[in-house]
Amino acid sequence: MKKNVLLLALPTVALLAGVARRPAPPVAYDLVINHVSVVDVASGRLQPDQMVAVAGGKIVRVGPAAQARYQARQTVDGTGRYLLPGLWDMHVHFRGGDSLAAANKKSLTLYLAHGITTVRDCGGDLTPHLFAWRREEAAGTLAGPRLFTSGPKIDGPGATWPGSLEVTTPAQVGRALDSLQRLRVDFVKIYDSKISGEAYLETISQAEKRGMKTTGHMPYSVTLAEAVTRGLDATEHLYYVFKACSGKEDSLTALVRNSLATSKPLGLFAMLPAVYDTYSPAAAQRIFRLMASHHTAAVPTLAIGQTLAELAENDHAHDTLRAYIDPKIQRTYAKRLAGARQQSAASRAFSQKLEAKFRTLVPQMQAAGVTILAGSDSGPFNSFTYPGASLHDELAQLVRAGLTPAQALRAATLNGATFMGVAARSGSIAEGKDADLVLLTANPLADIANTRKIAAVVSRGTVYSHADLGRLLAAIKNK
Ligand SMILES: [Zn+2]
Repeated sequence: MKKNVLLLALPTVALLAGVARRPAPPVAYDLVINHVSVVDVASGRLQPDQMVAVAGGKIVRVGPAAQARYQARQTVDGTGRYLLPGLWDMHVHFRGGDSLAAANKKSLTLYLAHGITTVRDCGGDLTPHLFAWRREEAAGTLAGPRLFTSGPKIDGPGATWPGSLEVTTPAQVGRALDSLQRLRVDFVKIYDSKISGEAYLETISQAEKRGMKTTGHMPYSVTLAEAVTRGLDATEHLYYVFKACSGKEDSLTALVRNSLATSKPLGLFAMLPAVYDTYSPAAAQRIFRLMASHHTAAVPTLAIGQTLAELAENDHAHDTLRAYIDPKIQRTYAKRLAGARQQSAASRAFSQKLEAKFRTLVPQMQAAGVTILAGSDSGPFNSFTYPGASLHDELAQLVRAGLTPAQALRAATLNGATFMGVAARSGSIAEGKDADLVLLTANPLADIANTRKIAAVVSRGTVYSHADLGRLLAAIKNK
């Protein structure tokens, strides 16, 4: 025992001797946040009184608050504050055509001001613009979140969204994936307005062979289990998971398939009441276990579901954030708003019931080991789902559904980074990771609403104080 103590003491003595001979210069950092409580999203615990040091855009030291001397170009007092990894919004859209490119670009400011330092664009028609923004961000001439993108969506002939790649045959699927690989997109997004069940499954299989990640909606003419076993990496929204929770999924799927050749093809919305009425806890457990074992993540997008379900009752006339949404984008809200107003009282009530049921799925999936990803679905056309703020709404909904604040925070940080394959350099506060951080004035583990209490955001090592963020927001405010 005594010997060990001596051995341990030796290096300290040597170090002290070295200091005595020639004082070592204090370590120089770009930024030090000292005496801060670090939110460890992996363990869900707080590490009080820490020092987080940043150099060259990376976190280079995380440890007990510094007592020794150090040099930093910038110091932030973290006393009484909480440091979160930068947030990830795993489902956003940039779209609406070239004439809306500048309006979409302004939303980058909204994301950053709300602590979102990475977004995943789930398909649109502004891919070249998005790549240009990415270059500006890398050059330091544009402040905004890191951008992952699927590029154009894959869909069937006569697709709903402009710019989609329309596929029917396996050869067309191959060409569509070739074009996405040439674009160097980060994953493949499949939509379900017109794509056939066969082309949908073919897209997953071919993408899997190429090592491309797939995510998406799903035609109701196939089952989620088929998509999961083919290699689907994430299912967006809960309509498709929900269908797989039906005890009569096979016969409902057959009904949809048989209707396709008739004059009245059945789609998702026609089938939802039957799916609801045949919900089976056993079927739910089966699909959740299958998703967990195949590492298929779920992106619940609960907040937009709630917003749309309440659209007929709420015209959002007094939302303060509308001042930051370009009028051209606000005009794209009209379509969903008109649709909502035409809804019958019965269908409105069903939407509410459905959203409540969706919330019950989330903690069950979490318990079964399914990765949950926080996504807002914000972007043009998605009425009153404001970029930035809507991710905080989603976090609140995830906790309302039954996740702990720590689980919700993981869904909006580490899980996103892991899904995109960059957890080694992002998603938590650790040495060697990107300096993308959010400084809060209150503890988000105690109350998830505290993620909104933002004192500062660090993006690529640059600090944006509350005042800096206010100036950026003022620059995009509608005149
Ligand atoms: Zn979407």
